[in-house]
Amino acid sequence: MNELQLLPQVRDFLQQNHAHFIDGQYYMGHPNTSIPVINPANEEVITEIASASIADIEAAIFSARSAFKGSWAKTSPYQRGVVLNRLADLIEANGEELAQLETLCSGKTIHLSRLFEVSQSAMFLRYFAGWATKINGETMSPSFPSMADEKYTAFTRREPVGVVAGIVPWNSSVMIGVWKIAAALVTGCTIIIKPSEFTPLTMLRLAQLAVEAGLPPGAFNVLNGAGGVGAELINHPQVSKVSFTGSVPTGLKVGQAAMAASLTRVTLELGGKNAAALLPDVNVDAAVEGLIQSGYVHQGQVCAAPERVYVPRERLQEVVEKFSAALEQMTIGSPLDESVQFGPLANKPQFDKVMECLQVAHQESKVLFGGKALPQLGYFVEPTLLLARNSQDRMLHEETFGPIITLLAYDDINELPALINDSPFGLTASVWSNDLSGALRLITEIEAGTVYVNMHTFIDPAVPFGGIKASGTGREFGSAFIEDYTEIKSVMIRY
Ligand code: NAD
Repeated sequence: MNELQLLPQVRDFLQQNHAHFIDGQYYMGHPNTSIPVINPANEEVITEIASASIADIEAAIFSARSAFKGSWAKTSPYQRGVVLNRLADLIEANGEELAQLETLCSGKTIHLSRLFEVSQSAMFLRYFAGWATKINGETMSPSFPSMADEKYTAFTRREPVGVVAGIVPWNSSVMIGVWKIAAALVTGCTIIIKPSEFTPLTMLRLAQLAVEAGLPPGAFNVLNGAGGVGAELINHPQVSKVSFTGSVPTGLKVGQAAMAASLTRVTLELGGKNAAALLPDVNVDAAVEGLIQSGYVHQGQVCAAPERVYVPRERLQEVVEKFSAALEQMTIGSPLDESVQFGPLANKPQFDKVMECLQVAHQESKVLFGGKALPQLGYFVEPTLLLARNSQDRMLHEETFGPIITLLAYDDINELPALINDSPFGLTASVWSNDLSGALRLITEIEAGTVYVNMHTFIDPAVPFGGIKASGTGREFGSAFIEDYTEIKSVMIRY
């Protein structure tokens, strides 16, 4: 084992008392309880974090609302873009510190933390910064009859909805937070982020960097705590929009609570059971390499990752051999070791959930590779490959959010739409083929928010992302986010 040395600033940061970030500063508040933050690679407590009380929640909302009506409203669109670009620069300048903090809390390998939490976060911020000066309404020509030569014109304004509650999961604590922070700030909203209780530290550091970038106090606040803090935020009458990323069961509660609160706008980015379909002409080497990279990335704890793979029966043997050979090569170990490709699962509940899935797999499916926890401290399980016994195998239907891919052989390409769509989820899917006609025909049949061809799991700020069916509602990225973070105000003028 060859773990890298933690930076002195990371060690110092861990020594501090942690709670929230409100009105431009660290805020210790009135803690009810504290939550231990555990390193999933060795099960040691890294630090503790205070959980927000009702008074802390009120303080954050007051601060966010004041900035929404005051300092941030007075900041020009151009200047908003400048601040977001500066924050991107600061994320990169402090990238190693953020990456190490993320890896310590989540078990994400250090090179993935550098890639997703640092480089991708900066890239998304810069993309959104470019929108700052381009959020506009339209002009219209009303058709009212003119009785005495009066004329009419009309236009729409895109106005920010107000204070946004951004509730995020543990699998990508900076990047998913940045998607919400950037979308809110660039449209003129202000935001309170509620990180996952398992990964509460990086957002606090990011909030400090945002102040350094020139963001006025209150425009971006952080409230820590478990689900109850998120629930209180949603219920608050001064929260105008909820942007939630997390599991389907929690998403359902969040959606219902937002509607019940005051028809609060809500976007839900939820789970998936993402399918990959290999067509008969598939290049097996390329498909297996692509599915391993996209399916086991961050130990499979990525919402867009493929979990079920449909393989032409005549290619099954070849696919199984190449998958198993590639998994054999995967280096498993400490996520702080730069040579490691596969670390632990992110937390104990997630480890328990994956172990339950593996138990089901041993009963219902054929385990082709892996299938066990590693006998050591930390939440390590083997990358696992299963063969489903039939299309009703539970491992083809339940989201594991872990490193488990299930294969199913098919006989006729016409079976694919029904197999792929036999799921309550609809987040992503992929088709692996160079048969353009076959791939395009399948794309139109697939029920998913994103369909990839010869790739899977990638996200790009220019391309809208989100789910259909139980995978959620609303889209992040592209220009689609503008709809969710702004209200249209219509103005009609007689002259
Ligand atoms: P989770 O639903 O348990 O928690 C997500 C967040 O919601 C956490 O911050 C949690 O504290 C908070 N929360 C819990 N109960 C709440 C309540 N009643 N009201 C308000 N907030 C509440 O999800 P998780 O285990 O952190 O993340 C894993 C899940 O997230 C997986 O299902 C995965 O597919 C999904 N996910 C989806 C996307 C996407 O973009 N579609 C991205 C990443 C993860």
